[in-house]
Amino acid sequence: MAQISTVPSLIAGSFEESASDRVDEVPDPATGEAIANLPYSTDAQIDRAVQAARRAFPEWSELPVPDRAQVMFRFKALLESSVEELARLVTRENGKTLEEARGEVRRGIEVVDFACHAPTALMGSNLDQVARGIDEELVRFPVGVVVGITPFNFPVMVPLWMIPIALVAGNTFVLKPSQLTPLSAIRLAEMLTEVRLPAGVFNVVQGAREAVETLLRHRDVAAVSSVGSAAVASHIYTEAAASGKRVQALGGAKNHLVVMDDADLDESVAAIIPSAFGNAGQRCGAGSVAVAVGSVRDSLAKKLAGRAETIKVGPGIEPGVTMGPVIRGDRKRNLERYIGDGETEGAVMIRDGRGNGPSSGFFLGPTIFDRVTPDMHLWRDELFGPVLSVVRTDDLDSAIRLINSSSYGNMASIFTGSGKQAREFRQRVEAGMIGVNVGLPAPMAYFPFTGWKHSFFGDLNATGLDAFRFYTRHKVVTSRWL
Ligand code: NAD
Repeated sequence: MAQISTVPSLIAGSFEESASDRVDEVPDPATGEAIANLPYSTDAQIDRAVQAARRAFPEWSELPVPDRAQVMFRFKALLESSVEELARLVTRENGKTLEEARGEVRRGIEVVDFACHAPTALMGSNLDQVARGIDEELVRFPVGVVVGITPFNFPVMVPLWMIPIALVAGNTFVLKPSQLTPLSAIRLAEMLTEVRLPAGVFNVVQGAREAVETLLRHRDVAAVSSVGSAAVASHIYTEAAASGKRVQALGGAKNHLVVMDDADLDESVAAIIPSAFGNAGQRCGAGSVAVAVGSVRDSLAKKLAGRAETIKVGPGIEPGVTMGPVIRGDRKRNLERYIGDGETEGAVMIRDGRGNGPSSGFFLGPTIFDRVTPDMHLWRDELFGPVLSVVRTDDLDSAIRLINSSSYGNMASIFTGSGKQAREFRQRVEAGMIGVNVGLPAPMAYFPFTGWKHSFFGDLNATGLDAFRFYTRHKVVTSRWL
């Protein structure tokens, strides 16, 4: 019998339960059994969280930058000693394998590492003598209260894209984690408290759409960083911008992996399978469309299906399991509907994942379709599950045109032995993150996690120096001393 906890909010340094009668049950996706109850924060609690962040702002923002960086060094040390604990928590509430969860925590820690160099990243610039006896300098300041809205698929990593950089830059923060995976966020909050982050600098509220609306309406919120599906990203971008807030909203994806006929086919297949089916396909970086070009058209789907047989579907906590469940039963049923529609629309089923994995929990095995075409829902929509479509094209030009006709533009990769073709792909493809012989070209923390078209709404991306720019505003000072 799983132990059931009640997930609190963190407001002004105190963990408190909500009195709201809106309570979700949080299940372990591998068993379907409840592991926690999640009472949603009330509007009054959300307001108190924002007020706490607003009150904490003057003192935190005036703390010397190296002292704020020291908090991040302590946070980093605590995270390093807690990788296994956090990974197990991620597996429990999200379902991904322990190995994938460890990878997620490590990628999150990289952002904390990056935030530790704040004294350099926050430097301004100056030019003496812009006119006779006149000097000019650019100085950075934090923006104020920042809100973070995060998805279920990376419950540790995505909050860590935001929190370390926003805080070290001098902002205070209110996090609204996904209602599907709220436990990791609260553990991160406990850890920030343990490393002596002052009360009120970081707050967590719980809930779903209504909580986001309340935060977007709040006049004391200066900036919003959100990660989620395209429709939600577009909505948050529009609403936040309409009330004058700075906003970056990362959206969904439909990532294409192009296999040219001069590629090393076995190596390409070995890279495509984890890209498509890692995290049960629930990644904005998932390669969900393989594009078979020229002479690999007839062989690619079969090779992929052969390799997919090596995937072991089961509870992510079990050794040897390489693919866990999807997040909820309704998401699984939705994916099964897409699979049924794919068959009806004329795609050729090469591997059927329905019925794979234990019958308890929300399991769906790797599913592969060949001869998918751009008029099918399988190609158009982000499915966000372990379903891979293979599209056949004649040449690189038609592969690039296919990619550029998608409404999404997150990632795209090419597998080829030709530098010329790789260069053409890099130049012409409309996507923010490009891979060459790489299945999942997710940038390291020092680079921006980008995205084009419906995959990103905003101007400054997450992580990298873009993030320091997003979380600061600058003044330009012109001085003349007589
Ligand atoms: P989601 O859009 O359902 O939810 C994301 C967040 O928005 C959650 O906190 C949720 O409570 C909130 N939300 C949901 N509906 C809302 C609404 N109508 N108005 C305001 N807020 C709302 O996303 P999800 O299912 O949790 O996560 C998966 C999605 O996130 C996929 O589309 C995936 O591609 C995307 N994602 C993108 C990136 C990226 O870097 N571009 C990274 C991770 C995930």
